[in-house]
Amino acid sequence: MFKKLLIANRGEIACRVIRTAKQMGISTVAVYSDADAHALHVQSADEAVHIGPSPAKDSYLQGEKIIEIAKELGVDAIHPGYGFLSENADFCRLCEQNNIEFVGPPVGAIEAMGSKSAAKRIMEEANVPLVPGYHGDDQSPEVIKKAADDMGYPVLLKAAAGGGGKGMRQVWSESEFDAALAAAKRESMNSFSDDHMLVEKYLTQPRHVEIQVFCDKSGNGVYLFERDCSVQRRHQKVIEEAPAPGMTESLRQQMGEAALKAAKAIDYVGAGTVEFLLDSDGSFYFMEMNTRLQVEHPVTELISGQDLVEWQLRVANGEPLPKQQSELRINGHAFEARVYAEDPNNEFLPATGNLTYLQPPLENRYVRVDTGVLQGDDVSVYYDPMIAKLIVWDESRDKALARLTKALSEYRIKGLVNNIPFLYNLAKSAPFQNAELDTSFIEKHNDILFVEHSANVEQFVPMMAVVLLMQKQADLRASNQRVIADKDPYSPWATTDAWRANETHQQHVALDVGGDVHEVEVEQKEANNHTQEHSFVVHYNGHTSHISVKRQGDVFNFNANGHRQAITIAQDDTGFSLYASKVALHFAEHKPDLGLTDEDHGAAGFTAPMNGTVVKLLADVGDTVEKGQALMIMEAMKMEHVLNAPATGKVTEFFYQEGDLVDGGAELLAFEASEE
Ligand code: ADP
Repeated sequence: MFKKLLIANRGEIACRVIRTAKQMGISTVAVYSDADAHALHVQSADEAVHIGPSPAKDSYLQGEKIIEIAKELGVDAIHPGYGFLSENADFCRLCEQNNIEFVGPPVGAIEAMGSKSAAKRIMEEANVPLVPGYHGDDQSPEVIKKAADDMGYPVLLKAAAGGGGKGMRQVWSESEFDAALAAAKRESMNSFSDDHMLVEKYLTQPRHVEIQVFCDKSGNGVYLFERDCSVQRRHQKVIEEAPAPGMTESLRQQMGEAALKAAKAIDYVGAGTVEFLLDSDGSFYFMEMNTRLQVEHPVTELISGQDLVEWQLRVANGEPLPKQQSELRINGHAFEARVYAEDPNNEFLPATGNLTYLQPPLENRYVRVDTGVLQGDDVSVYYDPMIAKLIVWDESRDKALARLTKALSEYRIKGLVNNIPFLYNLAKSAPFQNAELDTSFIEKHNDILFVEHSANVEQFVPMMAVVLLMQKQADLRASNQRVIADKDPYSPWATTDAWRANETHQQHVALDVGGDVHEVEVEQKEANNHTQEHSFVVHYNGHTSHISVKRQGDVFNFNANGHRQAITIAQDDTGFSLYASKVALHFAEHKPDLGLTDEDHGAAGFTAPMNGTVVKLLADVGDTVEKGQALMIMEAMKMEHVLNAPATGKVTEFFYQEGDLVDGGAELLAFEASEE
């Protein structure tokens, strides 16, 4: 086996490859650009070498430089990951010339699949079914248009050199054709310095189903089943799953064998993916072959129990395929959701910024998170804005989907716009749950998928108020317990009678939802100890709601005036995120302004934010206190409010003593700031 592997990539895929290499006892070399000096992949590798400035063309695409580093460090194999140099025949050739194993297919296979037109011609000869269309060398607009007219509209123009959905245009009628061809050619020229086009029949409701193939150097090949990647935005994948819902054994076998035929036609070696369009009548058509490990390979790993990176390394090392076709089985169902820094409400525009808070769901045998970033990292303008891949597995599609929605509701990201709420809506939506999949899924269901910022906030305010209250009570109980455990005699919570269960009183709650403040009055009724249900009467906006709720982890099962709904609540240090079936909202407690600002310390009074009781005085009149030191604790319905010193200074008078009842708005103490 190889001794030292260089990973010519970054981010999650570099980390992913390093993980397996380590397990196999292979030492690893990372390369990095300026922007990635402190990146996770650099920290994870045994050695790391700086290769240049942040733009990919000056760093991760510098093939010759990477080869030099590999030679200097005694590297015997290079894994290119996906993107960057992974499908670059020149780089593959450079590796060969320098006696370094390229973990991927041979040069000839990369070249054969490099052009979509050439690939289709090869597949035609190998009798692999193709999407009807024209992929010839004669590029005169008349010839291409005639082909389109003959097969009938709609058609799809594609750049032969294309990738990433660029240089692609749908054409719905003859009259649009000329303009669309010109536009697609321009786009292709700009992206690929080439404007060779092909035209295909545009299938209106196909599914994207692809087959994972693997071939060794002795000409053996297997397929590791299929992935359904129909859920796409801008012709790019968003959620992938394996196996494909509704797939029959016989269709799987036909598609698997067609994919192997495609691979054999180009003497393929290593991991490859043959992409097909699957029509509603069960016909399938070759689209293209990707000659690398795909982003979505983990779903195949989870249903097959195989480590595809290990397979790649073994095959590159000249070993036979680790398993024969007859030894491969599908076990359960897996999903992958691509977590991106992007704004679904603004045409999925990529976002950049700092991941100020990043808490992925816990990983276990059902949940896997492949990522290349840590809290505090930047998502920069230089690379793909993918934050992570969330991959889940369970025995059935329904169970796996429940894991996906749960994991998404636990994924907490702050600092930049991201697609988590969108993914959650998608995973929760009825058509996705029912596996009504085709490539226009997102367009077709956009009315239910896109989170509306102006969502009917009012409808959720009473429930938010209840959540806030319950959370505060839980915090208070936890804090009481901590204090009792610590036996701190000076703590205000050493006396546990601040918590009085089963009492009914009215509580004022001020919520901040997207900058708007909502004032709510909540009355708590007795909790039903038997059903664990808590009941509240909420007055808001002139309406009264009777709400009962039972909490199960992050899921709050509400019954509001007879309307039952399960709402997931995620909490972080900035507040709460609420996820209902079509809505994601962020809310926090609106902190009452005590009338003090840093410039104005000491002059204004401290007012009670609500009706309540003075629980504890924490300073002595006349003693100097530090800025931020707690002066008094008020309690109202199991909620604590700590009043802190706004500056260094002293309390000159407390207007209430411990145990006194106070009215909301009452002046509580007088404070005098020290002269600076
Ligand atoms: P790229 O290489 O740019 O990603 P692909 O050829 O892989 O382009 O196609 C990307 C997506 O575009 C497919 O997954 C599918 O959703 C859609 N697509 C491609 N060809 C057709 C077609 N003939 N009819 C309908 N949709 C298509």
